[in-house]
Amino acid sequence: MSTGIYLDNNATTALDERVLEAMLPVLRHAGNASSTHQPGQHARRLVENARSQVADLASVSTQEVIFTGGATEANNLAVRGATMAALADRMCGRDEVVTCATEHLSVLECVMSLRSLGVFVTVISVDEFGVIDLDQLRAGVSERTALVTVMAANSETGVLAPLQNVVEIAHDVGALVHTDATQLMAWGGTDLDSIGVDLLSLSAHKMHGPQGVGALIARRSVQRVLEPIVHGGGHERGLRSGTMNTAGVVGFGAAAGLAVAEGAAAADQVRGRRDRLEGELRRHVGSDALALNGHRTLRTPGTLNVSILDVDAEVVLAATPQVAMSTGSACSAGVPGPSHVLRAMGLPAQRCDTAIRLSLSRDTTDRDVDTAAAAIGRTVRTARERLSLAGAR
Ligand code: PMP
Repeated sequence: MSTGIYLDNNATTALDERVLEAMLPVLRHAGNASSTHQPGQHARRLVENARSQVADLASVSTQEVIFTGGATEANNLAVRGATMAALADRMCGRDEVVTCATEHLSVLECVMSLRSLGVFVTVISVDEFGVIDLDQLRAGVSERTALVTVMAANSETGVLAPLQNVVEIAHDVGALVHTDATQLMAWGGTDLDSIGVDLLSLSAHKMHGPQGVGALIARRSVQRVLEPIVHGGGHERGLRSGTMNTAGVVGFGAAAGLAVAEGAAAADQVRGRRDRLEGELRRHVGSDALALNGHRTLRTPGTLNVSILDVDAEVVLAATPQVAMSTGSACSAGVPGPSHVLRAMGLPAQRCDTAIRLSLSRDTTDRDVDTAAAAIGRTVRTARERLSLAGAR
């Protein structure tokens, strides 16, 4: 299938050939990693090898990796699991979750669902660049706070959170910290120890691994209290029951290994290409007509979210089918409407309606960048001609 130029890597990345090679024999040979016979034990060894690859990426021990069916599930396990644990411990008196307005919906909706259990929810604002307001966070947390959940990198704008500060503020009042690091891990991982978060979510398909597999990294002290959301045979230290997706996990491990080996170097190259893309777009559509959404420097290397101020994003997407790009988050199941992230940044409606997200990966070439910018430029010129003709009528 020819997909043209693929610039939607924040939605999902292509499976790396080396990851596919690692998965194929496992797909053919499907032992159950919980079985005691030889095929089962072989599957178990493969899973444990993958676990150490993922642990390496997050700089944690293997016992801290809980495999899940993706980051949505990992986020739900972290948020619901930690909050339910606090509610169960009546002595601790913690019944509040603090989050940020620009979180992924798998965090926001999960947090909001807890309100029916009597959980108090505080949502912290961001500034016009999408950076969390730390003063508001400081004022928002208290001895009542069970969990602070703030994403490491935003899927729509790529904006990075000042995690170290978030952790300091939350730990000061004794609250746990969860971060959704799904969009960050492809670029070489993160050192959990130095940042000090208690829970971290990640997903294989954002780092050239397979879809439908991810992990929650949970500190051992937190694991002891975390309540599972999927009950059953007690797999994954009792925190995520269900037969292991062995091939998926092997692919995740391989992808994590590649992220460790190549992520940081790729980040520099991709950042350069992303900036080249912005430059080319400015040249084609006119610099005055282009506004960057998000923070210029505090941003993942592959994300470019821009508004072409006089042309609707839907028009750009529909008239440029050879470039796979997005108007906002592809995760909201194609639901139209302005992005909650851009709105939370206080951007005017016109800026939201004209925002396109172009996201690059280590596979993106200079040629992709130049061709995509030229194609978008042609679309914009045509749209402007139509508009001026309509205006003249
Ligand atoms: N969090 C973020 C920041 C994401 O970008 C995504 C995927 N778009 C998710 C969570 C959900 O991940 P998954 O598709 O693995 O459920």
